[in-house]
Amino acid sequence: MNFKNFPMVPRVIFGRGSFNQLSEIIAPKRLSINAPFIYLVDDVFKSNSWLTSRVPLSYEDKIIYVSSKEEPKTSQVDDVVEDIILSTKERPSGIIGIGGGSMLDLAKAVSIMLTNEGKSQDYQGWDLVKNPAIYHVGIPTVSGTGAEVSRTTILTGPKIKLGINSDYTPFDQVILDPELTKDVPKNQWFYTGMDCYVHCVESLSGTYLNAFSQTYGEKALDLCKEIFLDDTLTPQESQDKLMMASWHGGMSIAYSQVGVAHAMSYGLSYLLGVKHGIGNCLVFDHLEEYYPEGVKLFKQMKVKHDIELPKDVCAELNEEEFNIMIDIALSLKPLWENALGKNWKKIMTPKKLRELYQKI
Ligand code: NAD
Ligand code: ZN
Repeated sequence: MNFKNFPMVPRVIFGRGSFNQLSEIIAPKRLSINAPFIYLVDDVFKSNSWLTSRVPLSYEDKIIYVSSKEEPKTSQVDDVVEDIILSTKERPSGIIGIGGGSMLDLAKAVSIMLTNEGKSQDYQGWDLVKNPAIYHVGIPTVSGTGAEVSRTTILTGPKIKLGINSDYTPFDQVILDPELTKDVPKNQWFYTGMDCYVHCVESLSGTYLNAFSQTYGEKALDLCKEIFLDDTLTPQESQDKLMMASWHGGMSIAYSQVGVAHAMSYGLSYLLGVKHGIGNCLVFDHLEEYYPEGVKLFKQMKVKHDIELPKDVCAELNEEEFNIMIDIALSLKPLWENALGKNWKKIMTPKKLRELYQKI
């Protein structure tokens, strides 16, 4: 047995308004006046001065607004890196990602690619990164993905949707300020929140489960139930708790794995560009055979919050397209082994998977 020795985020600050401490936190990390901090900020905040006026810009620091309409791509990472190299006198002092999982993943990948040669697609996989990334900070503005704490950055490349999983991927610093999530639209709140819920269900019912993952997963699952099924929390309490549920959910899968919903959601996303949170919901809705209790509660949450999932997403697909999704999903071996055990190939055949996709 080879036990994983995985890195954790070394510094984290939590609290409503803690974003105001960003300036003092990063000041000691400035390498020179020509080595700027580059902020990768979700463009939803472009006209939101409540947030952007508090971004502490000095010297050559700059904000790059990025759309998260589509999930990060390897080509996008390479473009941002090139743009930074061409527009800065010295290698930046740090990259600061402000946004949801998309922006956090982009920031992680860019910080890696500023110190590693070649294209980001060369590093999709496990432990392929050679040099430490530059200093990078993650500031989530929507809660659920666990990207703020994870050892991966999920990118869609020309051949596959796969993470850059490495010891250099995790943030050096995370700022958890739940107030930043106050304006997330309800549907997005639900979809990204359900990403956390599904992380917990898949981790807790997987064959890779151990006490480390279980303790984090159980806490996060309890928080999700409180947030999405009880009526007792104030909006502030709910924001605070979902931010911590996301963190704990991420910690839980760090030492286990996700499962069926994630494998299938990757296929959907690769072929159709369906985003991670909603993709998980679309798939999870049909997985009662694998996660009976989890799916039952999910359906209750959906009704309680009046969420209508898109229908007939796979209705028009042809044979070739189904096969692409099936191939992508089945290539994620650890997810299936975690979900269904060592003999997973006997349980999840391409035919079975196709039947599931056809329901979506
Ligand atoms: P997201 O980053 O894609 O953002 C979703 C939407 O919410 C966007 O339209 C964005 O503009 C908006 N938004 C974000 N913050 C807002 C705010 N405060 N107010 C109003 N609108 C706001 O959403 P996500 O679900 O957090 O992230 C999904 C991405 O995370 C995917 O790319 C997925 O692959 C990735 N992911 C990564 C990991 C990891 O461990 N690295 C884990 C899970 C998912
Ligand atoms: Zn997820």
